[in-house]
Amino acid sequence: MNSGYCISPIATISTPFKQKFAIPRQPNLADAKGKITLANDFDDPRSFKGLENYSHLWLLFIFHETAARGWKPAVKAPRLGGNATLGVFASRSTHRPNSIGMSVVKNRGVSQSDGHLQLHVSGVDLLDGTPIIDIKPYIRYADSIDGARDNLDAYAPIPRRPVCFCPTARDQLIPVMKKHPDAADLIEAVLHQDPRPAYRQSTENDDKIYKVKLYDFDVSWQVKNGQIEVLSLL
Ligand code: SAM
Repeated sequence: MNSGYCISPIATISTPFKQKFAIPRQPNLADAKGKITLANDFDDPRSFKGLENYSHLWLLFIFHETAARGWKPAVKAPRLGGNATLGVFASRSTHRPNSIGMSVVKNRGVSQSDGHLQLHVSGVDLLDGTPIIDIKPYIRYADSIDGARDNLDAYAPIPRRPVCFCPTARDQLIPVMKKHPDAADLIEAVLHQDPRPAYRQSTENDDKIYKVKLYDFDVSWQVKNGQIEVLSLL
């Protein structure tokens, strides 16, 4: 067996997600935007020729925030309540050999900024600053499989809760939206999935106030009567 391959990032992505907590567990659960900036050695427009033919792209990336913790053969599965385990290769856990992640995202086109290429995508589930190791087109005839089976879907649906903004948060949203026009939709989509730890997700009234950092603001929120209420945006 080959003793190893050396992989270097080709790009870095910037996203609204400044911490791991509350990042959707898979892509396209929130329409979060990402901007991919190519590293100098790969900053060549010829590499993107024809990319406009594809509505979606695969991003391969490094789970850089958790890579140093190594991998585990059995990992806790949030979809199974957080305590049950699955084999790492039967999961999309971050704690895997080589720390490689893969996400299908929407292709929003290429632009130039200060002479550098930038690829715009959305639907990301990546932490801000994640190193990208490859970009490939999503090819419908091969990547979309009719009748594909995921038995966990039946008894572990993604939690969904209604989200509302209290009057204070609604006022605070006005200046935030001037800077980040997608802020309200993003907050709603992220919180809708109830990002609390799996063992708390069935609690309909939770005293704890949670905080999520998106862009450059902190969202405080609480679960009351089964609803997620946004308390403040600071
Ligand atoms: N779609 C990818 C996959 O299947 O390989 C990622 C799935 S993984 C379950 C998604 C989670 O990875 C996110 O909710 C976030 O907590 C975490 N994550 C995202 N970017 C990361 C990074 N750069 N380093 C470590 N963890 C990250």
